[in-house]
Amino acid sequence: MCVVVSVRVTVCVSADWHFVGIKRWELREAAGRPARTSSLIRTSSRTVCTMTQKVVLITGCSSGIGLALATRIAKDEKKRFMVYATMRNVSKGEALVEAAGRALGRTLEIKQLDVCDEISIKACVDSLPERRVDILISNAGMGLIGPIECQSVDEMKTVMDTNFFGLVRLLKEILPDMKRRKKGHIVVISSVMGIQGILFNDVYAASKFAVEGFCESLAVQALRFNLNISLIEPGPVITEFERKVYDEGLKTDLSNADAVTADMFTNIYLKNYKQIFETLGQTAEDVAEHTLRIMTSDNPPFRHQTNTLYTPMTTLKYADPNGDLPIDTFYKMVFEHDKIFNASLNFLKLLRWRSRRSFTLDKSS
Ligand code: NAD
Repeated sequence: MCVVVSVRVTVCVSADWHFVGIKRWELREAAGRPARTSSLIRTSSRTVCTMTQKVVLITGCSSGIGLALATRIAKDEKKRFMVYATMRNVSKGEALVEAAGRALGRTLEIKQLDVCDEISIKACVDSLPERRVDILISNAGMGLIGPIECQSVDEMKTVMDTNFFGLVRLLKEILPDMKRRKKGHIVVISSVMGIQGILFNDVYAASKFAVEGFCESLAVQALRFNLNISLIEPGPVITEFERKVYDEGLKTDLSNADAVTADMFTNIYLKNYKQIFETLGQTAEDVAEHTLRIMTSDNPPFRHQTNTLYTPMTTLKYADPNGDLPIDTFYKMVFEHDKIFNASLNFLKLLRWRSRRSFTLDKSS
């Protein structure tokens, strides 16, 4: 028996991509099977995405949380997502290529995007089929620690340009399309420092406060277009970020700081830095798991803190409208009860170690 099959293919070619919508029901009808209306989108010469898959664009995927997120979402058991994992420099993509494994070229594609460069953002979004982004994850960011008298304004501007204006640039490119479609979720990797400032993180915290204020304002408008905005607020996460920031901190030229400030930075802040990360630090994979849960929730929250060990600290902020409670508590913790603070950290570390051990035992039993 001979079956004649007619296939209509729509192809629109732009710079380096093409869109192929194949009316699969025509194939199925011709073959005498019930019609289905799904179609395929060829997103590059290799990847194919179904219309039911959500398109996720993530920034800063060469390391840390971005890498963990891209990998976790692309390896979703139900294959619900097509991930565009972007990075400033695609030659730094080896770790992601390795972690993505078989997802690469199937549910994950790597693209260049520098959040400080509007042209690169536009080129990346233009390269997507129909410029469609269902979920934007704004993750790229950088840190800066130290006394402000030892930092140049240019260094500070770079942090604001990446962490705050990077998000603004992304939204200027992507938000109008989301509004037109009346569909979209903007997920922003903020920080607990977007809620509460921390000693010697003045400019970094300011950049995350800016992100939070911007998103809080925008969220009301977004609702009118059926769009969601979610701020993910991790506490300390053990990534390259932590190592880079610490190494830069060690190299800080403290000659412009007075003796008390220099001593506070070196002998209190830097001394405790590693211990705080070791005790309270989450893994990037853990943050990715939290983010996936928020992305797939029917009613995603506006704010989500990922680290329950840190939540008591941020609660202080909400407990006192005068704002004195968290400042006094931090002061006492660092300067008056530092021994108790260190003992508590050690105790927490022990508890976490024990809980991890029991978790391992449970799993094998
Ligand atoms: P990371 O340094 O491993 O990742 C940051 C990524 O952003 C890197 O891949 C870097 O190349 C990229 N990036 C920097 N500037 C960029 C630019 N102009 N364009 C595109 N990409 C750029 O650190 P991470 O911990 O994975 O950080 C990811 C996000 O999580 C950041 O926004 C950070 O502020 C936030 N965060 C981190 C921690 C932590 O303790 N590590 C805690 C809370 C929030």
